[in-house]
Amino acid sequence: MKKDIPFRSVLVAVLLGLVLWGGLPLYRHRHCGVPIIKGPGVTDVRKLSEYSPGLAGTMADSAVYVLEGREPGGKALLMGNTHSNEPEGMLSALIVIENGVVEKGTLYVIPFFNASGSRNTRAGDGYPLYFDVTTDWGARRFRYGNRDASPLDQWPDPDVYIHYPDRQLLSYIDVRNTNRTWPGRADGPLMERVTFGAMELMRKEGIDVAVDVHGAETMFPVTNCIVAPEKSVRIATLASLTVKAMEGFDNHVETSPAGFRGLSHREIGDHSGTMPFLLEAPIPFLDQPTGPKTVKFLLDGKDPFLLSLSKKKKLFVPYDEGGWPLEKRVGQNLSVTLEIFRQFTKKTAARPIVVRGVPRYADVVKAGVGHFLADPSKAAPGAVVVN
Ligand SMILES: [Zn+2]
Repeated sequence: MKKDIPFRSVLVAVLLGLVLWGGLPLYRHRHCGVPIIKGPGVTDVRKLSEYSPGLAGTMADSAVYVLEGREPGGKALLMGNTHSNEPEGMLSALIVIENGVVEKGTLYVIPFFNASGSRNTRAGDGYPLYFDVTTDWGARRFRYGNRDASPLDQWPDPDVYIHYPDRQLLSYIDVRNTNRTWPGRADGPLMERVTFGAMELMRKEGIDVAVDVHGAETMFPVTNCIVAPEKSVRIATLASLTVKAMEGFDNHVETSPAGFRGLSHREIGDHSGTMPFLLEAPIPFLDQPTGPKTVKFLLDGKDPFLLSLSKKKKLFVPYDEGGWPLEKRVGQNLSVTLEIFRQFTKKTAARPIVVRGVPRYADVVKAGVGHFLADPSKAAPGAVVVN
């Protein structure tokens, strides 16, 4: 027995060492802050828990940036990182926060909508923990998150997720997916409290237009498109036709199916006066039959396996040696968002939403995403918000 004690101690020490070696990078990722600089148009920064008190003090609470215009008008909500493995939405929101100035109306921007998901990882699948965007002054680092909220914040998962209020049966994992938990409820599972917070924001502030920015696989048919329910489809179609004619890129319209519950483009419209739009930019990195999931691939979207599949007509988007780089994805999101605001303003002249200072597709493709990101070390005191 006496001989066993040192052996057991060594074994315990080795196990503890392995846990620390494997766990520390994940701990650091979860607690790594992302600074966002309040741009010239930001007039207030709130928390989503102001609209959904059940979020207060949790990792799922999130900052809401308010850009109030010089003149009154309509109101819009822009959400990124509903799925935190689709960072184009977060970067588009960030560019609006750091560059946008609202002339008429008010803009609410939530860059990390599923804040818990942005602190979750897929390291086990070989996904990176971080990615750097090159800027004019150096690199800016971001957490690469997961599609679903972290089980550290919401656990355990049910066998089946019963959607509220329709009682449709969804996959168990969708209880942590903030694009299945709309419209949510004040005392539901944590992710329902997130979507409930956004619903309350839209109802209390009188939001006219909500844009939820995503990305999708090139092998998935609902990609490179605007998803819109009946009430938004006219504006979505006009925006799609205008960007095609004026800016030369495709972004077709998909109609939101009425029978599939929990999605932002369905529930926001059905449970408020807001017109919802969901944007999907193609992200080759999310496809399954690809090479290693490197940061370079995440950013440039270039993959030899997808290229050969494209030649066999297996992809739903045009794909060549140029890949599908971040600049195109973010540029498309920004142009389509601005065009939705413009078309809404044309149709509803009494509630204009006019934003300036935000680059469009050609600007981002030419100058790069990083060109529009500010340097936190040069920001004025109090201008940096850590997310
Ligand atoms: Zn998504």
